[in-house]
Amino acid sequence: MFESPKIEKVSIVIPVFNEQDSLPELIRRTDAACATLNRDYEILLVDDGSSDESARMLCDAAEEPGSHVVAVLLNRNYGQHSAIMAGFSHVTGDLIITLDADLQNPPEEIPRLVEKADEGYDVVGTVRQNRQDSVFRKTASKMINRLIQRTTGKAMGDYGCMLRAYRRHIVEAMLNCHERSTFIPILANTFARRAVEIPVMHAEREFGDSKYSFMRLINLMYDLVTCLTTTPLRLLSVVGSVIAVLGFAFSIMLVVLRLAFGPQWAGDGVFMLFAILFMFIGAQFVGMGLLGEYIGRIYNDVRARPRYFIQRVVRQESLASEEENRS
Ligand code: UDP
Ligand code: MG
Repeated sequence: MFESPKIEKVSIVIPVFNEQDSLPELIRRTDAACATLNRDYEILLVDDGSSDESARMLCDAAEEPGSHVVAVLLNRNYGQHSAIMAGFSHVTGDLIITLDADLQNPPEEIPRLVEKADEGYDVVGTVRQNRQDSVFRKTASKMINRLIQRTTGKAMGDYGCMLRAYRRHIVEAMLNCHERSTFIPILANTFARRAVEIPVMHAEREFGDSKYSFMRLINLMYDLVTCLTTTPLRLLSVVGSVIAVLGFAFSIMLVVLRLAFGPQWAGDGVFMLFAILFMFIGAQFVGMGLLGEYIGRIYNDVRARPRYFIQRVVRQESLASEEENRS
């Protein structure tokens, strides 16, 4: 195992959408937590098109002399994950930590994440202990997390918790993905070599309400699934083929029985109509499956994720200098 580069500067990225009431406390507590790190740090607050005072408050905080706050203002609301990506494009630290602005992720946990990353991990995930959300959200979350574990085979427990740390090269790899809808923790995991999870505390939302309505949650879930895999499209072609084969077999059976037992048995032609119908349905499913396969491939090409991600090349010094001479 090679040594990971030392973490000299830490960047905190926080998406903010109409959070004017939590901002003062958020900035104070995050700054206090970062000050205990004894290294350079910056706090990037990304305003995701808030309609309240958030943007102005961020600018004020950034303009204060000696402030570690950097304000990034978006022109309109793009959603949590896009806002975080916008923040990523302006970080200068070696370790990037994301967290929510609503103080549900206590900023006091930041030093623990940094400590864990110091051990050489590329990604430090977190699992919310005593999660303080509605029962509906907790159950939905649990189901989705279990599904992800099934598909990836990785035992990461809680993808919804945004209090996470990523090393710089992971963030750069994510910025090189060109898809419009992303789910950052999943994307990061595809580029991570060493990932780990630690338990963190979770608090109730103190100010305002969740920014996710039911429809936005559904949307988020689709972002997550499509970011992870094109298996649902695959399933269409597999399940479709099975239905098609069954349909064909059944229609042939109807035809054969009709020939054997005469029109009386076949309901005077009604069964034959069914047989024809089943053939068409089968053909349709085969067609849809084919479309699904093409769409899956088009989707993968369109989002143009890097085909592979080289973390590092190790070779002997002499070879390296020879190559340099040659070029
Ligand atoms: N957020 C955002 N843009 C949005 C929705 C949310 O930047 O369109 C931010 C929000 O300000 C907060 C974080 O994303 O910092 C998580 O949002 P919220 O706490 O409402 O989500 P929940 O905790 O209910 O999952
Ligand atoms: Mg929240």
